[in-house]
Amino acid sequence: MKKQISAIKGTKDILPEEARKWQAAESVAKRVFELYGYREIRTPVFEPTELFQKGTGETSDIVIKEMYTFKDKAGRSLTLRPEYTPSVVRSIIENRLYLQPEPLRFYYIGPMFRYDKPQKGRYRQFHQADIEVFGEEDAAVDAEIVEMADYLLRELKVSGTENLVNSVGCNNCRPSYIKDLRRKAKEAREGLCPDCQRKIDTNPLRIFDCKLEACREASQSFPQITDYLCQECKGHFQRFCNYLEIYGIKYRIEPRLVRGIDYYTKTTFEIISSRLGAQDAILGGGRYDDMMKVFGGPDICGIGFAMGMERLLSVVPSEKKKEKFVYLAFLGEEAKKRGMNLVRILRREQIECLVEYKERSLKSQMSRANKLGADWVLIIGEEEVRKERYQLKNMASGEQKEAAQEEILEIMRKSF
Ligand code: AMP
Repeated sequence: MKKQISAIKGTKDILPEEARKWQAAESVAKRVFELYGYREIRTPVFEPTELFQKGTGETSDIVIKEMYTFKDKAGRSLTLRPEYTPSVVRSIIENRLYLQPEPLRFYYIGPMFRYDKPQKGRYRQFHQADIEVFGEEDAAVDAEIVEMADYLLRELKVSGTENLVNSVGCNNCRPSYIKDLRRKAKEAREGLCPDCQRKIDTNPLRIFDCKLEACREASQSFPQITDYLCQECKGHFQRFCNYLEIYGIKYRIEPRLVRGIDYYTKTTFEIISSRLGAQDAILGGGRYDDMMKVFGGPDICGIGFAMGMERLLSVVPSEKKKEKFVYLAFLGEEAKKRGMNLVRILRREQIECLVEYKERSLKSQMSRANKLGADWVLIIGEEEVRKERYQLKNMASGEQKEAAQEEILEIMRKSF
């Protein structure tokens, strides 16, 4: 017995039936994004490691523990992208997109890679639909993004979601919060896991990302960022919440929502679903007003979100949509050739046809057509080839009639 090769742990195949569901969700997402003025951008799957160290942040769990980093043949350190935003920022700067008149609104759907512990809702290769807006400071855009996400979920018939919002302040107000947070975290040191103990010194904000119950409980007594916001951040947050109310979007302020990435400023948000279990966030995002500057680009603010496609699809209700198609049943080489040509013409008319070339009896071809759920069977034997008239069977009614090419086309056009 030869050894079987299996997929890598934390990755999974998306088989045809499931892929249909993905295609449908992706096309709804693209339609909604385009409706709000976003345009697709595609960047490489791997990037210089430095991009994520600098962008995602040296103290984030993603950079410390979860990156797929490797050396290529030239000895360069490359990383499979763990998230999308740094790539988009790099691309905007490199291609000087900010000099163009088009609004800087982008979307993307594709795979991301994180060396995380695989579990339900958490994979090592997973997919995100991301959107990013640059150059819009107004809190109205923060609300518009949440409203768009909410609309997208309604379009996909996802129910039972909750919108969590917060502000993580800016470089003016966060330092004094971090100082107090660090002091409190030091007092609670004993009750924290080793990872969080390390975070006290490196970035205490990251303690809120810890999933361990003990750390979560300890963090309940920590100070809340919302009590430390400067006038500017407080005003922005209030306006954001007001605009959400104008849209009629319900939300809950969650002061511990700091999100696992270092670059956020002001607004952060998540949409969670109670149907997802421990990994309950369908999407998350926020502002990153300083990122472009950090990469040596112009001083342009940014905001965006990333939606996990696997988690999204696990809460999108399945719609059994059957494809309509014609099955070709033929007997003999001449009938096959005639059938091949007829099917070609039907396909040009956008009529789906299935031809299985394996030799089978007519009976067994009919039974295949039935099993596969064909709507019509086009039957061609020697007699049909000679007469240039073919048998067309409607599988639902069982009715069968003889028809010439033009007539078949006419019936098919009407039926599809
Ligand atoms: P993040 O970039 O960590 O804020 O993640 C944004 C969204 O991507 C989350 O809300 C999840 O829906 C999804 N996500 C993040 N990590 C994973 C993972 N390892 N497996 C599956 N989905 C993920």
